[in-house]
Amino acid sequence: MRFPNISMPLRFYNTLSQQVEEFTPAQANTVRMYTCGPTVYDYAHIGNFRTFTFVDILRRWLRLSGFGLDHVMNITDVDDKIIRNAVAQHQSLAEYTAIYTQAFLDDCKTLRLESPERLTPATKHIDDMVAAIEKLAAGNHTYNTDGSVYFRIASFPGYGKLSHNDFSGNLAGARVDVDEYEKADARDFALWKAPKEGEMAWETAIGPGRPGWHIECSVMALKYLGDTIDIHAGGVDLIFPHHENEIAQSESLTGKPFARFWLHAEFLMVEGQKMSKSLGNYYTLRDLLQQGYETEAIRYLLAATPYRKSLNFTLDGLRSARTTIERLRNFKLRLETDRYPEGASDALTARTEQAARAFVEGMDDDLNTAAALAAVFEYIRDANSAMDSGEFRAGNAAAALEFLTRFDAVFDVLEPAAQTNAIADSEVEALVEERNAAKKGKNFGRADQIREQLLERAIVLEDTKSGVRWKRK
Ligand code: AMP
Ligand code: ZN
Repeated sequence: MRFPNISMPLRFYNTLSQQVEEFTPAQANTVRMYTCGPTVYDYAHIGNFRTFTFVDILRRWLRLSGFGLDHVMNITDVDDKIIRNAVAQHQSLAEYTAIYTQAFLDDCKTLRLESPERLTPATKHIDDMVAAIEKLAAGNHTYNTDGSVYFRIASFPGYGKLSHNDFSGNLAGARVDVDEYEKADARDFALWKAPKEGEMAWETAIGPGRPGWHIECSVMALKYLGDTIDIHAGGVDLIFPHHENEIAQSESLTGKPFARFWLHAEFLMVEGQKMSKSLGNYYTLRDLLQQGYETEAIRYLLAATPYRKSLNFTLDGLRSARTTIERLRNFKLRLETDRYPEGASDALTARTEQAARAFVEGMDDDLNTAAALAAVFEYIRDANSAMDSGEFRAGNAAAALEFLTRFDAVFDVLEPAAQTNAIADSEVEALVEERNAAKKGKNFGRADQIREQLLERAIVLEDTKSGVRWKRK
């Protein structure tokens, strides 16, 4: 897909080295990549999807750069929150997680996120995890307390190399046995958790219980991708302790570097705070679609800010993404339908090539999507004025369309999503106005028709003394 005359090296910022480094896969032409997947205890929010959209852009750009991909993503289908929620709803773990795994896959499809080559649930790898824990125990990296097995951080001298924390003198005997800790503190961590009263457990060679979160990623990455993978990615909140712990486990198991490149996406924020379930400041994808926002606008908003910059989420931002996409679609339509004078303008041919090169250079520069998009919009502005002045010729259209196709192979926003039943606030307001007018004019048939029509789209009208109120069902 690249223009043949462009051979810029692809570079990524590597959290491990804290440097921008040139990237090529270690073996042959295939990138072996592992990304941390969702914990399926509820619907994912669009903060989670910022990270998954970054992974999608990364995948697409690697492929468009000519590499093959072997990408593994886990589904965390056992953890404290999942167990708690499943018990509260009188469901088995498998029944409970099946619902949210499917919801996640549906949301990914809606957002046009490419599927990893392998998507694997943690609970399908219990035996592999037990074997890994036994091997760590044999290497003297673990200790047992009350039926749980802990990783002894002091047994791994490289601990802290990813998060660039100095943990020396901070390790003695401390331990934490829950998934949900947030302390920025070096602690030994649980590899295997003894069952609490009434909890489900796997009966295994190391006793009854369930795996810790960190071991699942190490085990699945090593099993499918080998001892040293090319890229490991996730959100910045995973650097410590999750990814630090993955390194400690994996490198203690193999004696080799675990991942060559570590890429981390910054947060989606709301008014200065991380979007998160616990703060309650989140939207799911479904919330936004229900309010009438388009998947393309959401996808664009999440992708347009380079992944290493935090992104403040606002509904205004979504509306302006919608306008931007309109602009792109209008330009495409103009290219496809307007009639231009015969021939080709050399200046425009050069301009198109320059824009395509700037797009590639932006993406090669650690996926600088803002720079890549600037190249697209500056080009559209110039091409539109060339069309207005008659300079744009029929022979320039194919290359312009080709450039748009290349852009869309990454951003994937040009094709409108199939119509959903969702309706925007403004459309509801307009129909309510129309219904008021119909009632005033004693056209009750039309008024009732509008009420029915809105009900079909999950909008309920209430006639009150102070006028009509409406709400979503
Ligand atoms: P979880 O399902 O909690 O394991 O999270 C799934 C992914 O979403 C992880 O890679 C997190 O780093 C990422 N994540 C969580 N909250 C945000 C946020 N507000 N912005 C960007 N990524 C996030
Ligand atoms: Zn992980």
